[in-house]
Amino acid sequence: MSSTSDNHQELREAVRSLCATFPAEYHRKVDEERGYPEEFVDALTKAGWLAALIPEEYGGSGLGLTEASIVMEEINRSGGNSGACHGQMYNMGTLLRHGSEEQKRKYLPKIASGELRLQSMGVTEPTTGTDTTKLKTTAVRQGDRYVVNGQKVWISRVQHSDLMILLARTTPLAEVKRKSEGMSIFMVDLHQAIGHGMTVRPIPNMVNHETNELFFDNLEIPAENLIGEEGKGFKYILDGLNAERTLIAAECIGDGYWFIDKVVPYVKERVVFGRPIGQNQGVQFPIAESYIEIEAANLMRFEACRLFDAHQPCGAQANMAKYLAAKASWEAANACLQFHGGFGFANEYDVERKFRETRLYQVAPISTNLILSYVAEHVLGLPRSF
Ligand SMILES: Cc1cc2nc3c(=O)[nH]c(=O)nc-3n(C[C@H](O)[C@H](O)[C@H](O)COP(=O)(O)OP(=O)(O)OC[C@H]3O[C@@H](n4cnc5c(N)ncnc54)[C@H](O)[C@@H]3O)c2cc1C
Repeated sequence: MSSTSDNHQELREAVRSLCATFPAEYHRKVDEERGYPEEFVDALTKAGWLAALIPEEYGGSGLGLTEASIVMEEINRSGGNSGACHGQMYNMGTLLRHGSEEQKRKYLPKIASGELRLQSMGVTEPTTGTDTTKLKTTAVRQGDRYVVNGQKVWISRVQHSDLMILLARTTPLAEVKRKSEGMSIFMVDLHQAIGHGMTVRPIPNMVNHETNELFFDNLEIPAENLIGEEGKGFKYILDGLNAERTLIAAECIGDGYWFIDKVVPYVKERVVFGRPIGQNQGVQFPIAESYIEIEAANLMRFEACRLFDAHQPCGAQANMAKYLAAKASWEAANACLQFHGGFGFANEYDVERKFRETRLYQVAPISTNLILSYVAEHVLGLPRSF
């Protein structure tokens, strides 16, 4: 159910028909087993959907953010969870924008074909959290390599990826003019790194989201794996955020429509006190309200996509789309769970699983408060608060 028209019906139908071959039972089983949706991710990769943003010259589909966002939306709308694979869609943007021609030729075609997975990005650290410029992981140049020491936390999909983009400090904070300077990004070959200076400790968590603590103890990375210029890594990460925010917004919108599509038929059919519960305004209004919010978020998401694809500034729209969409999907999740009554808690209805999954978007990859700060400072010109 959606009243927002777009011109991508064929694309939608194609992604939807692939997703339909992985029914609710599949995603439920993967969740219950705390497994990885290997077959689902393989099918999406083989069909080329996760390479939507890779240009054709590097073997991808060369589509815009609008189309890529529709892929993510449809995955979540089908009952799946893009969290298992969205890194593959947007992590390569850093390489595409800032990597050398040699690096792009080395990695992108293999990422597009699925031979290599670049699902992971290591930024967050346990002691500094959102205050990224204070991160403590260091990479020190020694001849033809960098030696990495430190720790990361909540780094996702490491066990289902071949490559990881790593942000580390290459110049001490005390020696840079601005705190955003002196950090660099590296391409880490996970097969070479794990057990040779990098240790992975999985973090059991509320959603079936493979995420880990990483420990670096003299991990050696070849100097040729530095992406772009040394010291500019933080700026490179920021450059990728508008696409990431917009894609996450689309995932939330997919979740939102999933909850609406689930709850509306249910409240029409469920009879209590001699009438369908959906006849009560107390039941109708929260559903209607969350639907209105999803539709509004969807407009902002397509506006962010439009600007991004036209190479226009879109920071405000991308952030606002993520904020609105995460809030709307959470409201829809709450209504869906509430009006399923006790059944909302039963695994076989899938509501509790999607409820957990959509809650994450208010914290990761960026918390709602940090988006409010962005809008206050960068859109409204209020003084920087941190
Ligand atoms: C399942 C999962 C997967 C993740 N995957 C990855 C990954 O692959 N790679 C990666 O690098 N990171 C990943 N993260 C980390 C995620 O990006 C961070 O958890 C998130 O950015 C919040 O950082 P934090 O946990 O350190 O919270 P903190 O920085 O400790 O903040 C905690 C809360 O305090 C509030 N807060 C903090 N600062 C302010 C402020 N200045 N003003 C107002 N409120 C504030 C916010 O509400 C925030 O939610 C993942 C996290 C989870 C839970």
